[in-house]
Amino acid sequence: MQLTAPDQPIRYNLGMLRLMCVTAHPDDEAGGFGGTLLKYRSAGVETSVVCLTPGQAATHRGGAKSDYELAEMRKKEFAAACQILKVSRPVILDYPDGQLYLQNVNRVVYALALEIRKFRPHVLMTFGADGGVTGHPDHGMAGVFASLAFQWAGRNNRYADQFNGDIKPYRTQKLYYGTADFVIPGRQPITLAPQTTAIEMKEHFETKVAAFKAHTSQAPLFPLFEENVRNRSERELFHLVASVQGGPVRPETDLFEGVEED
Ligand SMILES: [Zn+2]
Repeated sequence: MQLTAPDQPIRYNLGMLRLMCVTAHPDDEAGGFGGTLLKYRSAGVETSVVCLTPGQAATHRGGAKSDYELAEMRKKEFAAACQILKVSRPVILDYPDGQLYLQNVNRVVYALALEIRKFRPHVLMTFGADGGVTGHPDHGMAGVFASLAFQWAGRNNRYADQFNGDIKPYRTQKLYYGTADFVIPGRQPITLAPQTTAIEMKEHFETKVAAFKAHTSQAPLFPLFEENVRNRSERELFHLVASVQGGPVRPETDLFEGVEED
């Protein structure tokens, strides 16, 4: 799909609206979604990142002597990156890095449905089953789990044991997958979702890079990261997967287009 020039500039102020991002590893929030998280936070939207693993299986280990040490190090890096991205509610869960495809679906979706019911996001963004430009299987699984949680959090017959005075069924209005208009050469094939939505984020680009670099244990990745994002500093791209409004897809420049405050 060819994206048209922005016809609907982002609305200011978007206070009272909430945006959630479900990721797999510390650094995904910055690398995949950092510009968008910053842009909406700057417009008054509350943001939450839910990261499923502390990244303990990473190739680059920052001198850590064990998976536990690396997990602890990366939790701190995640907190620092989320501070730079001004994330209102960072959450890091403890599923095993590299093994999301082996986890019990019901257990992970239960945890994510609870996060959705607590934070009550109007919009949820995550990866598609493609796994984003890196194609990482954990990214794809994060998207699968988050997609089910998006659907089920709004139903009163799913995980009803979670309901109490504050926790109720909650229906998020839109679901997006991060996508891209490029692939990294020399990797396994990735079939990306078509772009429906382009978020301009040029003014937040350097802060996005700074947030990525808060993941200091991953420093050997910085040159590749910069090479991939430097000439794509203007926009982050998304695929609209589901919307309570339904109807045909048309190009968007705002994740909150058509969203109603509750
Ligand atoms: Zn990742």
